Amino acid sequence: MSADPALPHKRARTEAEDEPAMKMELKHDEKVWLDDGNIVIVAQNVAFRVHRSVLSLHSEVFRDMFTIPPPDDEETIDGCPAVRVSDTADGMRHMLWALYNGRTFPEHGQVEFDVVAALVRMAHKYQISYLCDETLSTIKELYVEGFLDFIACKPRSVHPRLTYKVEDAFQVVQLAHLTNTPSLLPAALYLCCTSEPFCNLSKNLQCFLADRGSSQFPYLKYLTEEDIFRCLSVLPRLVQVKLWMFGTIFSGISPDCVENAMCKAVWSSVTHDKFFDGTMHSPDGPIDTNCLETIADDVMRSTLLSLDGFTFCYQCSNRCGEREDEARDTVWHEMPTYFGLAIPNWPESES
Ligand SMILES: [Zn+2]
Repeated sequence: MSADPALPHKRARTEAEDEPAMKMELKHDEKVWLDDGNIVIVAQNVAFRVHRSVLSLHSEVFRDMFTIPPPDDEETIDGCPAVRVSDTADGMRHMLWALYNGRTFPEHGQVEFDVVAALVRMAHKYQISYLCDETLSTIKELYVEGFLDFIACKPRSVHPRLTYKVEDAFQVVQLAHLTNTPSLLPAALYLCCTSEPFCNLSKNLQCFLADRGSSQFPYLKYLTEEDIFRCLSVLPRLVQVKLWMFGTIFSGISPDCVENAMCKAVWSSVTHDKFFDGTMHSPDGPIDTNCLETIADDVMRSTLLSLDGFTFCYQCSNRCGEREDEARDTVWHEMPTYFGLAIPNWPESES
């Protein structure tokens, strides 16, 4: 693959001079320009020189495209027939590179979510099913199989396979619809509900009415109106579940408690101070919908500070941790039903 971005190109179709894309100066892609290629794909103003046979082998869409007889005034670039597509240059580069490289992603290390998302779209559009499956499975590693563990980590920034930011969830929802992968929806819709604009409704309600928040929350464009309605209607349920989580985790001291009097005092402080003062918010503030968040350790740590070093005994603190694991498992199991979704093979609750 050579790089020669400055080479001039031939154009047979002079009548298309008025099209904005044709006015931009074409450049050879630095990564995917094969000197012995026999076709040039043009995305935006970037030209990719590749092989018909290779594209046909991988993609039914390209195969069909190449069976159509070329027009008399067929555009050629460097002597090769040129095909202009409406995709982004980045998306096309990612896809072609994956096709020629034999491997979509490196075996180890993190890949950029935006790259994976672009590949899902391209693989879906060009009907390259193995590429679509492989890229979706990378997204599933975080948003399905690994989600409950990942979301328990604090800080929640590093997943071994995929970069993460909470706004990516909006795009995951769209990819789930596009590829008919409903198992991605519970985690993605849940994350949408825990982030702006949903978690700060009273402040942001206007953004749902005015141009779907395109200026303030550009990622809202990835949701359909049905998705938005789903998220809005599930918010009270998530708040309710969050309160249930708190009540379940701190539902009393352990039967095996070894510091009865102290633990009872700590428990009373937790339920009164932390629950009624700490988890309730003023109506104007953000609502706490992140019911899959781990809270036991943080609450116990803050008790340690506020009670001059007193906290639960080892047994009670363990019991709170166990209750939290069970409660999170239950909530994760029920998450699809909150959104009115029936997901085949969704994990059963272990508790
Ligand atoms: Zn105890």
